[in-house]
Amino acid sequence: MIIQLHKTIKPEDLQSIFKTLESNQYSVTQVKTQFENYLICIGKQDLDIRTIGHLKGVKDIHRVSDNYKLVSRKWKTENTKIDLGNNVIIGNGHPSLMTGPCSIESEEQVSKIVAHLLKNNIKIMRGGVYKPRSSPYAFRGLGIDGLKMMHEQCKPHNIKIITEVMQASQIEDMMEYVDIFQVGARNSQNYNLLDALGEIDKPVMIKRGISGTIEELLNSAEYIFSKGNEKLLLCERGIRTFETIYRNTFDINAIQILKDKSHLPVIADPSHGIGIREYVTKLALASLMTGADGIIYEVHEKPEEALSDGQQTLNFIESEKLVQKIEHLKSLL
Ligand code: PEP
Ligand code: MN
Repeated sequence: MIIQLHKTIKPEDLQSIFKTLESNQYSVTQVKTQFENYLICIGKQDLDIRTIGHLKGVKDIHRVSDNYKLVSRKWKTENTKIDLGNNVIIGNGHPSLMTGPCSIESEEQVSKIVAHLLKNNIKIMRGGVYKPRSSPYAFRGLGIDGLKMMHEQCKPHNIKIITEVMQASQIEDMMEYVDIFQVGARNSQNYNLLDALGEIDKPVMIKRGISGTIEELLNSAEYIFSKGNEKLLLCERGIRTFETIYRNTFDINAIQILKDKSHLPVIADPSHGIGIREYVTKLALASLMTGADGIIYEVHEKPEEALSDGQQTLNFIESEKLVQKIEHLKSLL
């Protein structure tokens, strides 16, 4: 059960709500986000919620039978929109594109990508500076200096930045340069990182874990929300299955299911989803048809020379064609 409280609730009214709940054997967690004040109540299901609904300070009350609560659509039926400023809004019914290299590599690389984004009217650049790599000997990113350089080039054009944060200690330094923090698949259940991201007022896109279920993804988002940050996006990026012919099994089923189960925007990552360049465009289009609010995909001037994930990265011509195809698709969405 979720109780929404009036922001101006008096301490004595809050105390009396707590008393009523505890006398009904509910365990109660208070959650204050940048927008609202909630009580999450876990306990028996047979309480007549009207006995709580009339108490002073209660704005609204909802039964939520899912084991995740705040991210559930059961209490919030309208879609959550993420407003990045400068009229860049995710989840407003138009597909959002987040385009860029797997890794930020050099100033020259970034300036070419920025030009590509501007040419194609793409408002959000992706690019990792902290790279989780399967081998410790692979390129692990340019770190904070790479992010500052990316920001310097994006800022004059109001291009927004999404980049991965790997540990809580990086958040503070990254804050000024990031518009969306990405939690990577490997960190999808790093609860200390999720707690820390719950304490900031910046959007967070959380990717599904490599072997993560849909419910685990939703519970990871719940971690962040329950610490106080409502600005969340979910990302389907493929899961590990017995199939080895492609990198991951892109779970297209998950997209519409996530949309139904949660009010949060859902972003599809077909690049990691299949891991093979020639299929990325088709999966991107399919994802939008399946209800995704946006696509995050990898692009590089010369994918064969990329320092990471070149095998799944589109070149500029392929990316431009994808954008054109999405334009055609819009009338069907
Ligand atoms: C990435 O976006 O480059 C990345 C590492 O993604 P994932 O966490 O999904 O593997
Ligand atoms: Mn990548």
